[in-house]
Amino acid sequence: MTLHIPFDNSYARLPETFYARQAPHPVRAPRLIRLNTALARELGLYPDQLASEDGIAMLAGNHVPDGAAPLAQAYAGHQFGHFVPQLGDGRAILLGEVLDRHGHRRDIQLKGAGRTPFSRAGDGRAALGPVLREYIVSEAMHALGIPTTRALAAVMTGEDVWRDTRRPGAVLTRVASSHIRVGTFQFFAVRGETAALRLLTDHVIARHYPQADDALGLLRAVLAAQARLVARWMGVGFIHGVMNTDNAALSGETIDYGPCAFMDEYHPDTVFSSIDHGGRYAYARQADMAVWNMAQFATCLLPLIDADQDRAVTQATEAIESFGELFKAAWLDTFRPKIGLARAEDGDAELIHGLLDLMAAEGADFTNTFRALAEGTALLTNAAGFTDWAARWQDRLSREADGPEAQTARMRAANPAVIPRNHRVEAAIAAALVGDFAPFETMLDVLATPYDDRPEHADWRRPPTVHEEVRQTFC
Ligand code: AMP
Ligand code: MG
Ligand code: MG
Repeated sequence: MTLHIPFDNSYARLPETFYARQAPHPVRAPRLIRLNTALARELGLYPDQLASEDGIAMLAGNHVPDGAAPLAQAYAGHQFGHFVPQLGDGRAILLGEVLDRHGHRRDIQLKGAGRTPFSRAGDGRAALGPVLREYIVSEAMHALGIPTTRALAAVMTGEDVWRDTRRPGAVLTRVASSHIRVGTFQFFAVRGETAALRLLTDHVIARHYPQADDALGLLRAVLAAQARLVARWMGVGFIHGVMNTDNAALSGETIDYGPCAFMDEYHPDTVFSSIDHGGRYAYARQADMAVWNMAQFATCLLPLIDADQDRAVTQATEAIESFGELFKAAWLDTFRPKIGLARAEDGDAELIHGLLDLMAAEGADFTNTFRALAEGTALLTNAAGFTDWAARWQDRLSREADGPEAQTARMRAANPAVIPRNHRVEAAIAAALVGDFAPFETMLDVLATPYDDRPEHADWRRPPTVHEEVRQTFC
C-alpha cells in the first residue's frame, strides 16, 4: 500500500537558522503499539495506510515519505528560572505539516526519533513508559476538552535505551497545531536577530492568531490563551510539572507531558515532579508561572512593539499586567459551571474558594468531590463546614435563571467522572513493560468519555489506597 501524506511544510520554508535539517534515525524492529484512527481521519490521513508496512516504518522513523521535510527546531528556554540559550529538539523530529479536515495546519512530529544537532549528551530516544504516559494523558486532556498536543501513534523500536536502567525504546507521533514555544522567540531574541523575530512573529500570527494586528496584538492573544489554558488545567486538578519557557506553546496547547500528574487529594501546594524541588510549579502557582513565562515572551517582542523602547516597555508591561484579570475571568469561567453556575455574581470566587478550602482541610478527592456535587451526594466528612457551605451554595443556585436539572447538567459537563489517575497510569505502564498492553488500551477507552456515567467505569473512579498512591513522578 503506498503511503500518501499531503505535506505542506511552512516551517521548513522559514530560513535555515530556524532549524537543522535532520532525518529520523532508523530503528531495528518497528512494531505498532497503537494507532489513533480517529485522529488520523481528522488529519485527512488514511488509517489503513498508516498501519501498513510503509506507514509503520514512517511512524518509527525508518521511512521518510514523499513530501516530508524532516527537521529539528531550534529553541532556547528558561529551565526552572535559569536561561539556556540553546536547547532545541534533541529527541524530536518534525516530519512536516498537513492541513486537517477543518483546514487547520497540524505538525506531525516523531518524538524519540534519534539524535539531532541539539541532542547535547542525550541519546535522542524515548523510553516506552514516558511514551505511553504522554499518549494516555494527552488523549485524556483532549477528551476533557482541554487544548493539547495529540498522540497519533506509538511504536516500539525493538531497541533498548538506558535510563535508570535498561528500558524498551519507543517513538511517539505527536500532533500539534505547532511546536513553536516561548523558547523559540528567546532563541532569536538572545542573539539579537530582530529580522528572524519578525519572521517568526508573522508566522505565528498567520498560523494561530490571524486577528492580531502586530506584535503587541500577538502578545495579548497569547496571554489570553495561556490564562485560559492554566484555568482549564486547574479545573481538572492537573499539574503540568515543568512549565519552563521551552514547554510553553504559543498555540495555547498543553505540551511536553513529562512528570505531569492529576491530583487525587486536593491541596493547592501539591507537587509531583521529582525534579521540582522548590515547588516552583505547584498546582496553585501555575498562573504565576504562566505570567512569568509571558513576561519572557514580552521581552523578546520589545524590538517589534515600538522603535521607541521606553514606549515598548510601557505597552508590554500594561499587557502583562492584564494577565491577572484575564486569569481571574478564565478561572471563574472554569469553576462556575463546576458548582452549577451560569450567571456571574460578585462573591462567586469566594463561594468556590470556600469549597476548595474545605476540601484542602480534609484532603478530599478533587475529582470525586466535584462530581459528587453533580450527583447530589456529598463527599466531605466535615459535616458542619459542608452544611454551612451547601446552604450558601443552594442560596446562590436559587438566583440562577434556570432550575436544578439544567444546573446538574452543567455540573456533569464540567466535572469529569474519570481522569487519568497516576496510580492507574503507572499500572498501565508497568503491565506494558512486561508485554501486557490491555490495561493501556482499556484506559484509553475509559478516558475517551470522561463526563459519562458508566457503571462499568466505577473502579476507574476509585481514588488510590495508601499503598497504591503515587506521590512522585519522573520525566
Ligand atoms: P524536556 O525536558 O523534554 O522539555 O526537554 C528539555 C531539552 O532536553 C530539550 O532540548 C530536549 O530536546 C532535550 N532532551 C530531552 N531528552 C533528551 C534525549 N533523550 N536526548 C536528547 N535530548 C533530549
Ligand atoms: Mg539550520
Ligand atoms: Mg520540552
